[in-house]
Amino acid sequence: MNAQFPSAPGSQFDLHFALQSCDKNNNHEDFIPITKFKIEHLPKKFQKDNDFSHLINHLSKLTVKLTVTTLSPQSTKAPNSNTGNGLIFYQDLQGSGSIKNCKDTTLESGSEQQLGQIIVLTAHHLVSDQNAAEKTECAMFFDGVEVQPKILRSSNLLESCDKRDISILAFKIYEGDTVREIENSLREYEYLSRKLHLKYLHIKESDRLCITVSHPHGCYKYLTLGHWRKHEEGYYTYTAKTCPSSSGGTLFLLGVRSHNMVHRGVSPSGENCSSKETVFVNPELTLREV
Ligand SMILES: [Zn+2]
Repeated sequence: MNAQFPSAPGSQFDLHFALQSCDKNNNHEDFIPITKFKIEHLPKKFQKDNDFSHLINHLSKLTVKLTVTTLSPQSTKAPNSNTGNGLIFYQDLQGSGSIKNCKDTTLESGSEQQLGQIIVLTAHHLVSDQNAAEKTECAMFFDGVEVQPKILRSSNLLESCDKRDISILAFKIYEGDTVREIENSLREYEYLSRKLHLKYLHIKESDRLCITVSHPHGCYKYLTLGHWRKHEEGYYTYTAKTCPSSSGGTLFLLGVRSHNMVHRGVSPSGENCSSKETVFVNPELTLREV
């Protein structure tokens, strides 16, 4: 039993209760439940800077759990479910014109009116084609027993790139409150990450903070901390711990504009690594190499 983070008994999504043993990270003691994060968890150097707490709060809201359930039409076997993560990096409100119009509305037919789409970056090896995208469920705010998640079903694949190991999905969104919350987090995360990158522009290599947020083993949301290193091939490795189902997890690398990549897996050198950096040319969301 992990002493640092007492578990919520009975919850199958509590990493410290449901999965005490793990081949990769026994006891998961470096995994901090997002709902229990405190600034004191950060290295001493950053503990007086509340911008980090705000940034982590917004990064958490933009991190979603993805569940891909596939079953071939001929198969008599039980459906196969893969879980991973994604980063909401853009919100397309073209349908509703502007954020001000995003009120909850119900059409005369009784069905809800679509207010826009959230655009999610994930790993190609998790969602590789349109068929898988349509069978992908997105859980927003899947943080812990005390938080009510929002579930979005079936997405459209906008882009995918095997070489860079990224896919981009669009989920329809209907609730005005959620639209406003995500819009706020996108804006604040952009602002705070730029502010922190500038503030710590000249820190030592050994202080290059890495923060990952993901749903390890498909559990609630957890955060891990470490340091990062850049590789010539266009990806980053880090010492922050990850587990199975951390693919597509979100990253904050102090000093790097890191909201254009997600956690990929293990690098050839055996370290945890990101997908390759990518630039999105909005609003078409086409990719180009950096
Ligand atoms: Zn594990």
